[in-house]
Amino acid sequence: MIRAVCPGSFDPLHNGHVEVIARASSLFDEVIVAVSTNRSKKPRFGLEERMDMARETLTLLRGITVEPMGEGLLAEFCRSHGAGVIVKGLRSATDYNYEVPMAAMNRQLTGVETVFLAADSHYTHLSSTLLKEIASLGGDISDYVPRAVLKRFTSNDGE
Ligand code: ADP
Repeated sequence: MIRAVCPGSFDPLHNGHVEVIARASSLFDEVIVAVSTNRSKKPRFGLEERMDMARETLTLLRGITVEPMGEGLLAEFCRSHGAGVIVKGLRSATDYNYEVPMAAMNRQLTGVETVFLAADSHYTHLSSTLLKEIASLGGDISDYVPRAVLKRFTSNDGE
């Protein structure tokens, strides 16, 4: 039985995230989507709302749960949740250069392995930051985010 963790701030969840999480759930027995406290000063969506959007979107997928990551180390979260694998999506060389040292450090700290999934070519240009910017300027992001996310953008526009 292999339990994997898909970590991120998911501010908000978009279709690139969903695609990687769905692939993780087909590779591993259980997947925990670990939602971090956003490090940026003012996240667009609060932690509970980010978790609600992920739960509403992902509950149909087999073996997926959504949990807060807390303030501690990801490696410790994995250990305390009995997860041996971290799954990350890679969009670009920039992602790679950022992620590889963290993967090495996480493995040295607790033995947890990181598995990288190449982002699907339909989603390599998607980031939460870009989508928030487009939405704030009145652009249409409906092709890029799940319904649970779109509904919250339209219900509290202009923030
Ligand atoms: P963070 O806030 O830590 O930068 P995100 O919440 O944006 O992370 O993303 C969480 C995870 O999803 C990361 O592993 C990231 O590489 C992956 N990811 C982000 N965007 C995409 C995308 N468009 N396609 C595939 N994976 C992605």
